[in-house]
Amino acid sequence: MLYTRVELPLGIRRITNLLPTRPGHVHSYLLPGKDGATLVDTGIGLPDAKEVWAAALGEDEVARIFITHFHPDHVGAAADVAELTGAPVYQGTLDYAQCELVWGNPNWPNRIADWFLTHGVPSEITEELIDSGDVYRPFIRFQPDPILVDDGDALDGWELVAAPGHADGQLCLLKGRVLVSADHLLGRISPTVGLWPASRPDPLGDFLESLERTIELAPEIALPGHGDPIVDPVGRARELIEHHRERLAFTESSLTDRPRTGYEVSLDLFGADLKPASRRFAVAETLSHLERLVLEDRVERREDVGVVAYTARQLGRSF
Ligand SMILES: [Zn+2]
Repeated sequence: MLYTRVELPLGIRRITNLLPTRPGHVHSYLLPGKDGATLVDTGIGLPDAKEVWAAALGEDEVARIFITHFHPDHVGAAADVAELTGAPVYQGTLDYAQCELVWGNPNWPNRIADWFLTHGVPSEITEELIDSGDVYRPFIRFQPDPILVDDGDALDGWELVAAPGHADGQLCLLKGRVLVSADHLLGRISPTVGLWPASRPDPLGDFLESLERTIELAPEIALPGHGDPIVDPVGRARELIEHHRERLAFTESSLTDRPRTGYEVSLDLFGADLKPASRRFAVAETLSHLERLVLEDRVERREDVGVVAYTARQLGRSF
């Protein structure tokens, strides 16, 4: 079976597509509306994406397509599904700008290679990291010139809620007590929160604020991009805040007065034996923690001959 369909409460349907890489699947949601459904996310654009979607949608009318964020497993088949259904695509303003920057730009791999070198990744490993990121390129067919939307906009009775962190332009949908959380809130997996070139400067700070906002909004159920529905979204948001507080403390403890690069610290935080695809995220995630610590005055960043390195701040030392 290439996809599964599950009926959820309130007439919401979940369509799950398989992914060739971890976590092995991605959910899209059909939110019912008067003029047809709003389809949230489109899965990755494997060569047979259009046929799979034709079968998965069956008789369902799609009135509009909404992209929660530009990662390959969410935006990949957007143009295919738009062509199949004739429905307009909606995407966040910032998210679409980043989507074009990363997937519409042949120079992006060079830019990211330079950036990994700046953060201490050895050059032979940098090449592996670039290759592992590039495997997705052929499977991304985003929709050019979508209808741009932002935090607070309404989409067929759902309110768009910005939740930067996992992606700068991540948008969720909220109606009553239901939050379609995409990858902002996941059940068992901790969403990756990485610093990337041209990303906002403090993605982990953004993420922690987004989690606080989730707690304030107090949804009763969250429908994530991966894994089961989350029955205690507020509790899960608290757990993730706690998790990152612990990771921040661990990151801080791995620094001394000897400068260490983001790559070196990532070996402590995530271990030395990682496949290139995981190492990419490990370095980016380590950097988001280091940069948060810099902003909290717990760590110092230095840049020397084109390499960025971090040291512990010697708080309370008196001479
Ligand atoms: Zn995802």
